[in-house]
This record gives sequence, structure tokens and C-alpha cells, in this order.
Amino acid sequence: MSTSLSRQQLLNIADEYGTPVYVYHAEKITEQYQKLKTAFAAAPTRIFYACKALTNINILKHINSLGCQVDCSSINEVKLALHAGFEPKNILYTSNGIAFSEIEEAVSLGVNINIDSLSNLGKFGKKYGHSYPVGIRLRPNIMAGGNLKISTGHEKSKFGIPIEQIDQVLELVKTNQIHIAGLHIHTGSEIKDVDVFMKVGDIFAELVPRFPEVRFLDFGGGFKVPYKENETGTDVPLLGQKVAELINQLTATHQRNFEAWFEPGKFIVSECGYFITEVNVLKESGKIRFAGVNSGFNHLIRPMFYDSYHHIENISHPEGPLKNYTITGNICETDTFATDRPIAEIREGDKLVFYNAGAYGYEMGSNYNSRYKPAQVLVKEGKAFLVARRDEFTDLLRNQVEVL
Ligand SMILES: *Cc1c(COP(=O)(O)O)cnc(C)c1O
Repeated sequence: MSTSLSRQQLLNIADEYGTPVYVYHAEKITEQYQKLKTAFAAAPTRIFYACKALTNINILKHINSLGCQVDCSSINEVKLALHAGFEPKNILYTSNGIAFSEIEEAVSLGVNINIDSLSNLGKFGKKYGHSYPVGIRLRPNIMAGGNLKISTGHEKSKFGIPIEQIDQVLELVKTNQIHIAGLHIHTGSEIKDVDVFMKVGDIFAELVPRFPEVRFLDFGGGFKVPYKENETGTDVPLLGQKVAELINQLTATHQRNFEAWFEPGKFIVSECGYFITEVNVLKESGKIRFAGVNSGFNHLIRPMFYDSYHHIENISHPEGPLKNYTITGNICETDTFATDRPIAEIREGDKLVFYNAGAYGYEMGSNYNSRYKPAQVLVKEGKAFLVARRDEFTDLLRNQVEVL
């Protein structure tokens, strides 16, 4: 049984708060986190929600209340997590390409840190020596993930310290007595194949003897969730079982306690989210039937940026006959959400809902074309709460300095 919001609940929210609107379902987040807890029960494991997927402060508070921890990709996300009530020890800052000053700030805030360059590792060693345990983010030269844009572990990727430079890492560690407490590898997003994670596990197993203070092995995030009907996501129970075998074996072999760390973003929040739009115009041209909605890649860029599939439903007229539609937005730019997609007959004014809109939806939004960012609504225990208001005109001028 899967937790979801009904069409009627979504229609009621659209009526009350207007469109376009993002809707999140707290209980679905809980359900996803529980799946992870169950899957990873057989060995010491920490789950850090990769909050760049969705940072609304109420979502962060809900996730904190579940006992889940948080992974941040910028110092501002670290500050949002602290604001939401996460304790520093439950916050992880996995950096990439950042100024050393952000690492200094993260140290002063007392959070866990993964460092992703030799340059910053050297600076870290000089300043902190052995006094602050730290993780290193490695690039394993593995190609994996939904597509190249979301693949981070391959040999041309900017992420992490290339694995072939491990001797230089060890040199820096030795010179500065750096306390390397963890190894981190995040190979990308939408990784369905459990073997990709286990290849990472093999690399960890090889490296562990060279890092006697390592205690955590961080496999990153990237669990796939189903976007289409009949699609399957990452087999998380299987992954949990295999990772537990590895952790328990390493613990026995090396006589020290290891923990597995994970940083899922999409897995935790993708399916909790619904994006509701309204159809402005219908237009027919040859065989193409366009339905133009009151949104665009300014609100949901994944279809255009990653060629992602989002299931779309006409919740105003679900019993209508199926016809093929090309769903586009109102932005002066090609912003096609779906091409020739069978959807229940659409009339102008109908509400279309995009599923799996919780992760990287609102978060990657912008004010392009001087359009407003949408409202966000959270449903918890059957009640709907406005958790971010829709932009208004003054928001478009807020940071502008009028000098003329
Ligand atoms: C984005 C990111 C994640 C989360 O990826 P998902 O595909 O959302 O699970 C985890 N770790 C790091 C370092 C990331 O950059």
C-alpha cells in the first residue's frame, strides 16, 4: 500500500491556494524514510537526507522529527538545517568546488564535512591537523546514473578527488596528521543497479587498510524511484542486505567499527510531491494537439533539462476519453513538458497534475520571464498548510537597486 493524495484533495488545494502550486505529503516522506530504516537495519547505518532536493523549512523540520539526518551541498543549506533544528552532529556538509572559507565556517558550526579536493584537504590539514575528523570525497571513475548530467563519478567528472591521486591524499594526511574519519563516493542520481553501490563498496574495502582512522563509509545518494507506471526503483532491501554484509565483514576483519552512510534526496521526497497547473490554451496544428499550461521550465525544469518523464493527469476530467497531447508552458522559450502523451480529454481551465514533483522541482525554479515562483502547500495529518506563499510583484523588484 502506498500513501498518496487523492484527486479531490489536490483539486481542493488548487481551489484554495490557486495554481501553479506544489503540494507535499508529509506521510509519504515518513513512509519512504521507514523503508530505508527497515532496509538498513542489519548494520550500523546513518541516513542523511540530501536536502538540495527540497529545502522548505517545514519539510526539513518534518524530516528531523523522523530521526533522519541531513546532507547539505552549501553552507547556506547547513544554516537552514540548523534553523530547522538539526543538531550539528546530524548534519553533513558534502562540498564540491567551494572556497576554503566555507569549510572553516562549517568547522565553526561543528558539522560533519566531506572534502572534495586535494587543495582544500591541504589547507584543512595545515589549519586543523588532527583536531577535526573529516571525510574525503573520492571520484571512482565509474559511469552510472540516469544520464550524463546527473552522473558524478565518471573519469571526466569534476566531483571528488580522482582515485588515482590517492597517494597524494595519503601524503597530505601524513604530513599534516589529518584525521580521515570517512570515505565518500557519490556516483550520481537515479542509480537503479545495486551492483554500482557494491562496486563502490569494493573500492572502500581496498582503501580501508590505508586509512586506519576511517569509521564511516559514505555511499552517497542516487536511489532511483519509479517515475513511470511499471517502472521499478532501486532495490533498497537488497542493497541494505549487501551493504550490511560488507560492513559486518569489514568490522570483523579490521577490528574497528564501521558505519555505512547514505545521502538519498530524491528517494525521500520525490513521490511526496505534486505540481498542479492549469490549462490556459488549447491549440491544434496538424496532428499535434498542444495544451499550454500556466507554468514552464521556470517551475519544473527536469523535463527540459534532463529529458525526465513526469506522469501527468487531468484531475478535472479524469473520466474523459484519452487523447494525445503535447504539454507546453507559457515561457518564451521551448518548454515542453511532454510530447504526444495520452491524457484524459483536456478543456481550457482544467487542472493538470505532475507527479513525482517533490525532488528538484520547486528547488530548481526561477523567476525567468518575470513569472512568480509558485506557492508550496504541505499536507500533514489530512490538513493542508501554506508553507511558502506565491511570489508577488514586489518580489520581482526586491533585490533590484534603482539608480536611474
Ligand atoms: C545530490 C546529491 C545527493 C542526492 O542525490 P539524489 O539523487 O537526490 O538521491 C547525495 N549526495 C550528494 C553529494 C549529492 O550531491
